[in-house]
Amino acid sequence: MNIILLGPPGAGKGTQAKILQTERGMVQLSTGDMLRAAVASGSDVGMKAKAVMEAGQLVSDEIVIGVVSERLDQPDVKTGAIFDGFPRTIAQAAALDTLLDEKGMALDAVVEMQVDDAVLIQRILQRAAETGGARADDNEETLTKRLGVYHEQTAPLIDYYRERGKLKSIDGMAAIDEVTRQLKAALDG
Ligand code: AMP
Repeated sequence: MNIILLGPPGAGKGTQAKILQTERGMVQLSTGDMLRAAVASGSDVGMKAKAVMEAGQLVSDEIVIGVVSERLDQPDVKTGAIFDGFPRTIAQAAALDTLLDEKGMALDAVVEMQVDDAVLIQRILQRAAETGGARADDNEETLTKRLGVYHEQTAPLIDYYRERGKLKSIDGMAAIDEVTRQLKAALDG
């Protein structure tokens, strides 16, 4: 089964992806993690992405699609992919449709995790405090930008997938285990 977790930064996509990875043997594909690894390694992609990520903007569709395409060629994704933080634009969603087609894979469901902006800001500032500022983009100014980018460029994907009959929505504001319960029910229902 291949799924997308859709939702704003701080919605808990990564947390839920890791739970599914452990419990169902699926593989978390976080483009944010892949890009941070590229930045840390100093690769070409990393050098292009660094400043854009620090500013809370989106890395170009071309770069991100290239990174995902390469990742999908690795054999471990055959047990099921959890796209976390991708796609983030309509162009990425269209490219993902084509990539999955080319690789003989199907998209089973898109689960939208609904969380109010005020709750997100609290959560991300808490993550920043707990991790001692490990992520350069976990600060209030960048977060406000990231939320703006989400509403403008990523939220249109909700309709994109609803129109294609793939969308399920769950309450991302509940406690972690309740969100997991709703997520599994959405996938199994
Ligand atoms: P995330 O860890 O998903 O919050 O991503 C952190 C940052 O990486 C984002 O704010 C973007 O700058 C960049 N990024 C991650 N995924 C994508 C994507 N699918 N498209 C464009 N930029 C992305």
